[in-house]
Amino acid sequence: MSAPYYHATGKEEDVFEHACKNNLPVLLKGPTGTGKSRFVEYMAHRLGRQLITISCHEETSSTDLVGRFLLKGAETVWQDGPLTAGVRTGAIVYLDEIAEARPDVIVAIHPLTDHRRELFIDKLGESVKAHPNFMLVASFNPGYQKGFKELKPSTRQRFVALAFTYPAPDIEANILVQETGVDATDAQKLVRIAGKVRTLTELGLTETVSTRLLVDAARLIAGGLPKRLAVKVAVVEPLTDDLEPVAALTDLCNLMI
Ligand code: ADP
Repeated sequence: MSAPYYHATGKEEDVFEHACKNNLPVLLKGPTGTGKSRFVEYMAHRLGRQLITISCHEETSSTDLVGRFLLKGAETVWQDGPLTAGVRTGAIVYLDEIAEARPDVIVAIHPLTDHRRELFIDKLGESVKAHPNFMLVASFNPGYQKGFKELKPSTRQRFVALAFTYPAPDIEANILVQETGVDATDAQKLVRIAGKVRTLTELGLTETVSTRLLVDAARLIAGGLPKRLAVKVAVVEPLTDDLEPVAALTDLCNLMI
């Protein structure tokens, strides 16, 4: 399988490799759509490790991660959850949006994040030592805006942390071209739009234009959708449902593409 495309924006590849060698868990922090998941996919491929991704949400509990007893006919049989499977086989386990998960998930991962490197399965009364290749990676969207959950300092301080943000304009344009085949001039225009919208704090957007939204717009444009329509549906509409900001953003984008 060919390597997933990832354009480095700093020293994140070196940091990840060193963290991996030293058995340190890694926290990728930054807004949505800034390449965190793509980076983990790329690093897992580069290190030749299996990647197990767990997308955490409000209902994600330690049972979902660690495992549960299932009824099979008249018997109950134990089934490892994805975290336990990764701990046993030596995978990279990626807990995407870890702060969204229930608190018992954080409790369950603590012994995996320090020198113990073990997972306690309370339902089996058993501790599983992590395979030497096991690595824990988590992502977190820092709560600059209301509505996002925080991660406790006692948890954060167990990870080596890498900050992700929007790439520099030339790198971001390059990503759009590589990902979608859109032409370079349109890629630059999309990046300029994003640069402008990202400064408009007065619109009160919860999240601003991510690289992901630009990739979507570029993909639609490369596929032949009229440019203004592509920007409206892939960039403006996903950002807000309020009519005034939608109108203001649409006017602005129409001028810029
Ligand atoms: P996150 O996990 O931070 O929410 P993703 O990794 O899913 O974001 O990134 C969203 C999309 O943006 C990816 O699918 C990819 O197309 C693009 N992307 C963002 N940053 C990069 C990068 N540095 N290199 C390559 N693609 C990127």
